[in-house]
Amino acid sequence: MSAVIELKSVERHYLQGPRKLTILNGADFALKRAEMVALVAPSGAGKSTLLHTAGLLERPDGGDVVLSGRACGRLSDDERTAIRRNDIGFVYQFHHLLPEFTALENIMMPQLVRGLSRADAASRAEQLLEYMKIGKRAHHRPSELSGGEQQRVAIARAVANAPLVLLADEPTGNLDPVTASYVFDALEALVRQSGLAALIATHNHELAARMDRRVTLLDGKVVPLESIGHLA
Ligand code: ADP
Repeated sequence: MSAVIELKSVERHYLQGPRKLTILNGADFALKRAEMVALVAPSGAGKSTLLHTAGLLERPDGGDVVLSGRACGRLSDDERTAIRRNDIGFVYQFHHLLPEFTALENIMMPQLVRGLSRADAASRAEQLLEYMKIGKRAHHRPSELSGGEQQRVAIARAVANAPLVLLADEPTGNLDPVTASYVFDALEALVRQSGLAALIATHNHELAARMDRRVTLLDGKVVPLESIGHLA
């Protein structure tokens, strides 16, 4: 099956004073529909850089990011923003929910930005909250929710516009192991049911083992985690 998202020879460098740091160095990677891939690498290896580049938040310095066959590297900022809004969902380690709005409203927000009516956005948000098993918390604000519930809302918000790709940066990194496992159950069910393609950075080897495959970063390239032997 063809890839939903593809990184082709992606280069990413940062300047730190006079030094040029090479983070991605000809990175190739492809994700298929309904595929869940774990990104496991030490801190500083470039996981966030890879996720931000794949998610069109950062531009590659070389190579390209291809989404559903469309090369995105050289599109205008407006075009990239529109693609991000519709086709890419992000989940971060910290939920980044808007504190003054309820769980339901937080999930409605991206849909309203996209132009849906309030009724349609609310109905989809309710469905997603039920799906994430937190329907009863719909009218609570983030500060009234537990860490696990906050992350469930953040995941529901990330998929509110039915994106093609879900990119998650340590989505359970702030949670205790039991809560992390429950939140991951909900995330996994959502991915399997919706056909989303998901790339999930995690330090949790138990969760990584539940995904379809595991990759890591080595010398700026994406390689199978198992290929690096003892470090895996
Ligand atoms: P990870 O997510 O695996 O911890 P990052 O992608 O955040 O790794 O960072 C990889 C490396 O790139 C780190 O050494 C970090 O300091 C550096 N880096 C990340 N973003 C920037 C930036 N905007 N400017 C300079 N250096 C950066």
